[in-house]
Amino acid sequence: MRPERLNPIFVSADSLKGVGPGLARPLDKLGLSRVKDIAYHLPDRFAVRRAVAELNEASVGEQVMVALTPLEYRSSGSPRAPFRVMAQDAAGTACALTWFGRNTGWAKKTLPLGEKRWVAGRLGQFGTLLQIVHPDHVTEDGAVALGQLHEAVYPLSEGLTQNRLAALVAQALALLPDLPEWIDPGLMARHGWPAWAQALHEAHRGEHEAARDRLAYDELLANALALMLVRESGRSRRGTPLVGDGRLRAKLNLPFALTGAQQRSIEEIAGDVAQEAPMLRLLQGDVGSGKTVVALSAMLLAVEAGAQAALLAPTEILARQHYDTLSRLASGTGVNIALLTGRGSLRGGGRARESILMGLMDGSIDICIGTHAIFQDSVTYRNLALVVIDEQHRFGVGQRLMLTQKGRRPPHCLAMTATPIPRSLTLAQYGEMDVSRLDELPPGRQAIDTRVVALDRIEDVIAALGRHIAGGGQAYWVCPMVRESETDDIAAAEARYAELKALFGEGVAVLVHGQLRPEAKDAAMARFASGAAKLLVATTVIEVGVDVPNSTLMVIEQAERFGLAQLHQLRGRVGRGTEKSTCLLLRGETLSEVARERLALMRETQDGFRLAEEDLRLRGGGELLGTRQSGDTPFRVASLEQIGRLLPLAHDDARLLVERGRNDGRNDDSVALVGERGEAARVLLYLFERDWGVQLLRGG
Ligand code: ADP
Ligand code: MG
Repeated sequence: MRPERLNPIFVSADSLKGVGPGLARPLDKLGLSRVKDIAYHLPDRFAVRRAVAELNEASVGEQVMVALTPLEYRSSGSPRAPFRVMAQDAAGTACALTWFGRNTGWAKKTLPLGEKRWVAGRLGQFGTLLQIVHPDHVTEDGAVALGQLHEAVYPLSEGLTQNRLAALVAQALALLPDLPEWIDPGLMARHGWPAWAQALHEAHRGEHEAARDRLAYDELLANALALMLVRESGRSRRGTPLVGDGRLRAKLNLPFALTGAQQRSIEEIAGDVAQEAPMLRLLQGDVGSGKTVVALSAMLLAVEAGAQAALLAPTEILARQHYDTLSRLASGTGVNIALLTGRGSLRGGGRARESILMGLMDGSIDICIGTHAIFQDSVTYRNLALVVIDEQHRFGVGQRLMLTQKGRRPPHCLAMTATPIPRSLTLAQYGEMDVSRLDELPPGRQAIDTRVVALDRIEDVIAALGRHIAGGGQAYWVCPMVRESETDDIAAAEARYAELKALFGEGVAVLVHGQLRPEAKDAAMARFASGAAKLLVATTVIEVGVDVPNSTLMVIEQAERFGLAQLHQLRGRVGRGTEKSTCLLLRGETLSEVARERLALMRETQDGFRLAEEDLRLRGGGELLGTRQSGDTPFRVASLEQIGRLLPLAHDDARLLVERGRNDGRNDDSVALVGERGEAARVLLYLFERDWGVQLLRGG
C-alpha cells in the first residue's frame, strides 16, 4: 500500500493552505516536502522575549519585542549585500533591521516608512549601531505581539518567517491521525512516553522531554530496523564467492609498503568475499590512513576472480580523483578502468558514455568509478560482484546498500568512511555491518602544527600566507557555512576570495563553493591540484577526500563555528606530504566555553577517534534543546545525547521485531515484520523515510 493512501500526512506539503510556488523552494531547502516533515520540524528552542517600551531598557544579546518606526531603506544595490531598514524607537534611539539575501519588496511591504511596527528578535550590534538581524516577527498589532512573547522558534530558510512556519505546523498537527503503536507498551510506561500524535503536539508546545525522547526513539528505531532488514535480506541471498589468485595485485605499482592495519583490512575483506553470503563491511579510517589502496586491492581481487567492481563516490570531484589515482596505481596491471559520472562526461581517452555502457555490459570494463549514476537503470553490468562506497558518512549508507541489493546476485559491499565516529554511533549509522579499522597512519607523517589565532590578527595571517605562496607552497583558505542562508555564506567566501586575489594576483587563487556549476568546480579543483593555482579558497565543500600533498597550509576562518569532527576532517587536507604542515584556526572575539575547549583540543591532538569521542561529549552535554545538530549522523530528530542514551534500546527492540518475523514458521528465507507491532512499524519506516527497508519485506 502506498503511504499516500494510508493517510494525509504523507501528501505533499503544498496541499497545505498558503503553500504556493513561492514557498516551495524555502521549504525544500529545509527538507520539508511532505506534511509529516512539517509536523516533524521541531523548534530549535523556545524564545522567552521581553516587551520593552524603549531599546534603552534592553541589553545587547537579549530577546526583545519593541515598537519601531521605519525611517529609511538602505541597500547597496547588490543582491548579495545585506538590506537594512533604518528605524527608531519611541525615544528616538536608532536601530537597523537587517536581512541578508531577503528580497527587499517583502521588507518594504511589511515595514512601510513612518508606520509603527512591533519587531521581535535578538538585539545585536553593528559597529556602534543597534541592530536586529532577521527579526523573528514584524507585527502590526501590539496585542498580537504580546502573544509572541513565549513561543517556539523554528529553524528557517530564506523566504520563510516564524509566523508562516508556525501556521504550517499548526495545520500539519491538525492532520495527524492516530497511528497504531509500534513501541512496546512496557517501554512506553516505564519512560512515561506519550502516544505518537500527542508527542508531536507537545514537542511543538514546550520543552517536554518525554515527548522529544519518544520522537527521537522512533527515529532511532526506524533506522535500526531498516538497517537490520538490509542485513537480514542479505543473509538470505546468495552472492558470488570471489577468490583471486593475486596475479593483478602483484603488479600493483605501489611506491610504499602497506601498513599493518591496511594488510589486516585487506585480509578481512578477502575472507568475506570468499564466502557466498554478500559482504557488508565498513572500512573506518581517519583521513590519510590509506583507504584507497585497500579499496583498490579488493577491486583487483574481484577482477582476478573474473568479476567486475564498482566504486561509488559522493561527488564528481572525488570520483575523478579516484579515477586518476587508481588509474595511476593500477597502470601496470592491464585492468580496464572507466569513469562514469552524472553528466556523462569523462576524461581519459575521451570515450563516449555509450561506449562505457557497452563495456560494462560486455565485461570489457573491469572497474567502474563514478557517482550514483553508476547505479542508474540504464547501466547494466555483466557481472558486478563488488561495490565500494566511499565517504558515505553523512547519509544514506543503508540506501546505497539497498541500491546494490537489487540484482539477482547481490554484490559484496565495502563502505568506507573517514569519519572516526565514536563506537556508540558506529552502531547507529552502520547497524550490523562488520567493521575494519585503519587505526595506524602510514609512516613518516608529520604532526600538523595547529595554532589558534584571533581574528584581529588576520593581517599577519595573510602576510604569512603570502610568504608561504612566494616560497612555492600551496594553501587552503576555508570559509564557514554557518548562516541561515547559503547565499550569504557564499557571498562571504566570494568577498574573501576577491580580497586575496587582489593581493596575490590573478590566477594564483581559485574559488570553490557549493553553488558553482560542476564544470567550473572541476576546473578550479584541477588548477589547484596541478599546482597552477596556489591558493584554494573554499566553503566546506573541500571537506572530504581532496588530496593535494603539496598543500601544507590551511587557514580556517571562524573556526569556532565548526564541530570538532568537521575541523578534524578539514585539517586532514594538509599534512599529506613530507613537508611540515600548519593549520591556523582563526577565531572570533567572543568564544563560548565549549568553543574554547574545542579549539584547545584541536591544538592538543590529531587522533581522530579521540576527537570524535570528545566531540560527542562536548555536544552531548548541552542544554535540552539546541543540541539537535546531530552533525554527521543520519538523524533529524534525535540529538547526539539522545542517540547515546536511547539507541541501544532501539537496537534491541529492532532485533526483536526482525527475529519475530524470522521465526514466524515460514521456511522461505524471506524477511517479514509480523504481529500488530510489526505492522505498525512499517508505517514508522515510511515516516522516517527508511522505506528502502520496506521494499525488502515479504509482500512489501
Ligand atoms: P584516505 O584514507 O584519506 O582515503 P588515501 O588513501 O587518500 O587516504 O591515502 C592518503 C595518502 O597516503 C595517499 O597519498 C597515499 O598514496 C598514501 N599512502 C597510503 N598508504 C600508504 C602507506 N602504507 N605508506 C605510505 N603512504 C601511503
Ligand atoms: Mg579517501
